[in-house]
Amino acid sequence: MGSLDSNFSVNSTEFKPLDPEEFRKQAHTMVDFIADYYKNIETYPVLSQAQPGYLRARLPETAPYRPETFETILQDVEKSIIPGITHWLSPKFFAFFPATVSTAAFLGEMLCTCFNSVGFNWLASPAATELEMVVMDWLAHMLKLPKSFMFQGTGGGVIQGTTSDSILCTLVAARNRTLENVGVDNIGKLVVYGSDQTHSTYTKACKLAGIYPRNIRSVPAGSDTCFAMSPVALRKVIDADLAAGLVPLYLCVTVGTTSTTAVDPLEDLADVANDYGVWVHVDAAYGGSACICPEFRHYLDGIELVDSLSLSPHKWLLSYLDCCCLWVKQPGLLVKALSTNPEYLRNKPSESDSVVDYKDWQVGTGRRFKALRLWLVLRSYGIANLQSHIRSDVRMAKMFEGFVKSDPRFELVVPRIFSLVCFRLNPHPGSYPGYLELLNKKLLEWVNSTGGLYMTHTVAGGLYMLRFAVGATLTEECHVVAAWKLIKEGADVLLRSKDAT
Ligand SMILES: *Cc1c(COP(=O)(O)O)cnc(C)c1O
Repeated sequence: MGSLDSNFSVNSTEFKPLDPEEFRKQAHTMVDFIADYYKNIETYPVLSQAQPGYLRARLPETAPYRPETFETILQDVEKSIIPGITHWLSPKFFAFFPATVSTAAFLGEMLCTCFNSVGFNWLASPAATELEMVVMDWLAHMLKLPKSFMFQGTGGGVIQGTTSDSILCTLVAARNRTLENVGVDNIGKLVVYGSDQTHSTYTKACKLAGIYPRNIRSVPAGSDTCFAMSPVALRKVIDADLAAGLVPLYLCVTVGTTSTTAVDPLEDLADVANDYGVWVHVDAAYGGSACICPEFRHYLDGIELVDSLSLSPHKWLLSYLDCCCLWVKQPGLLVKALSTNPEYLRNKPSESDSVVDYKDWQVGTGRRFKALRLWLVLRSYGIANLQSHIRSDVRMAKMFEGFVKSDPRFELVVPRIFSLVCFRLNPHPGSYPGYLELLNKKLLEWVNSTGGLYMTHTVAGGLYMLRFAVGATLTEECHVVAAWKLIKEGADVLLRSKDAT
């Protein structure tokens, strides 16, 4: 054994996974690498042009037995990883909803990673729990939520990973509350409601929560309501379910749908749902962030009537992934549905009921100290700067909207509400929908293949449209201007080649 070991330079007595001086040196190099990446990000094609399986061909089949140097690894990041990155931070990224970032959030992330506290309960790191409670109340104040959603009132908030987690946890709380009344045998009668524009993660959460797929209702929301859910239609669907002997359980209202940023009429929908004792959740993953500005806050009017609200600052509030804020009016229902009490986590503060144990508010047990990120963002920038950040994105989207309107070959398909513009190329009004779809698909393919920008599409109400989502943190007016120029060039090329045939 001993003689075998001596053949290798690997030596267990010298191996130090965390040596402070080594860490300092390598982390400085890494920070330089990251800063250079951010600085040069525009030089890369936004959408990765890699082919499926490209990476396996470039990397060894097994992990190295002997250590490799940090420098070698960084070289491989340049050579093999970056070509397979779609640059979400590029100022030319206008796809999906951008994922926003900031220096403050990055620094907060460093601290979070630094402590690596696994804050499942209060005692596991009192600061992790208490800072999260403070930050969630701060954000609630910024959104002018009623006290019933704050720890300072009777509710409270928690940082989840994603909207899916937020919906799943509240859905399970609602499900258990209702099953207590109607009996667990009736789980097959529970019905949940959304619109056909509700995010797909809702259906997934419903399936995870044991809702029968046949009981997941999708209220049609067409172009006549700008893709918002109709309270009248909702009431009809609920009445029909009641008449069939089913049990209405949960409604998901969306403020800023993913396809077109439609806003469901929160207050009227909540009024309907409250008539039937249905739990109302508001999914404001993207649009909610805008509501820190007084001019957008009215989209949350009626919020006092709902049971829970989620919003993802990783989308529009300069936090890195992942960060989804969830507020609930009755934390007790979450805890009742999700709490666990193993012997190895027992401790005095938890048993005295004087503290929050966040493990009882989420799916997992372990949890990161993510509140640090938001705390640094809120403190470093202040509400004033965060409001200007939202307004600046909206201003750039308005500018793009203006470009679209100024070119008779193009048209807006849906009115713009936040910083997403839904538009299409429609050079000969009256054309067949199939032709328009093909034309716009070609345009999208053309612009994305240039690497000069990245946009995506959607279909709503049967209409194929292009989505131009402003909001990547590094985007400035010049990038929007350049993007429009490229889109027009694509249209020129396509229409010319068509005329030629
Ligand atoms: C993006 C989005 C989601 C999914 O968001 P995550 O929080 O990133 O999981 C859900 N709902 C809406 C309306 C969204 O826009």
